[in-house]
Amino acid sequence: MTARIIDGKAIAQEVRAEWKVRADALKARGITPGLAVIIVGEDPASKVYVANKVKACAELGLHSEHIALPADTSEATLLAKIAELNADPKIHGLLVQLPVPKHIDSDKILNAISPDKDVDGFHPVNVGALATGNMRFAPCTPYGSLVLLQKSGISIEGKHAVVVGRSNIVGKPMALLLLQHNATVTICTSKTVDLAKFTRDADILVVATGRPKMITGNMIKPGAAVIDVGINRLPDGKLCGDVDFDSAKEVAGWITPVPGGVGPMTITMLVANTVQSAERAAGK
Ligand code: NDP
Repeated sequence: MTARIIDGKAIAQEVRAEWKVRADALKARGITPGLAVIIVGEDPASKVYVANKVKACAELGLHSEHIALPADTSEATLLAKIAELNADPKIHGLLVQLPVPKHIDSDKILNAISPDKDVDGFHPVNVGALATGNMRFAPCTPYGSLVLLQKSGISIEGKHAVVVGRSNIVGKPMALLLLQHNATVTICTSKTVDLAKFTRDADILVVATGRPKMITGNMIKPGAAVIDVGINRLPDGKLCGDVDFDSAKEVAGWITPVPGGVGPMTITMLVANTVQSAERAAGK
């Protein structure tokens, strides 16, 4: 069997077009959805992510603010900036690009962002909302992975979904989203004994470990939908996922490539969350 490739770039374009219609409807009412992204320091990868976020907003005609603070910015100054943006009616989505420099407590920062503007979905209020089935903002990468399944026509209800990885930004929220869509969910971690026993039973397999190509074709159930969240840079400079694409595509029914799978969806869902936040604010 050769798997169908889930084209994240094409699906991201489709989803962005849908959200542009909603953003345009708000603009017709005089409300332009706005995203503010704060970056502290000079981390090169973070700078690229932030530039891409700002670019995606511009594509959809959203207002965006890019606040670059020096690496020696104090925690108090950063908290004051967050408070200012929390109160700014032009801003509907606010995020601080992680990681922040070591002298800043990242939990304190995430907790300071208004839950109403927390488009990354990292604030404990929004984590709790997702866990109790009252989702407000889902974290963008798992949300994008869910949309990839839905847009590919892969049914989730009643399926066994196995999530490999339990990070707060990918694995745990992914598992909660799949549970909310009535999958039977298993979460595997680095402590799981006999990982392949679980992955081979997965109808839907989501892998987010940061371990290049660790899931091979012989660990996959024939016909399964495989979502590879991993982004790893190999010594030769090429990108690869946490799934060994070449062997996995011979067994799986659907598979996301890396790059061009989950990656394009993450920023798409950030924009979606920003528009949704503006819709909520407009409805108040
Ligand atoms: P973390 O390092 O925070 O978490 C990795 C998780 O994988 C941990 O829960 C860890 O288990 C688990 N794990 C590690 N090794 C194994 C193993 N051998 N068997 C089973 N589980 C294992 O990573 P993230 O969740 O932040 O990211 C995961 C991947 O996704 C990375 O490649 C990252 O680059 C990528 N990513 C991609 C995004 C995108 O936009 N496409 C966005 C965010 C991340 P334990 O808890 O026991 O240590």
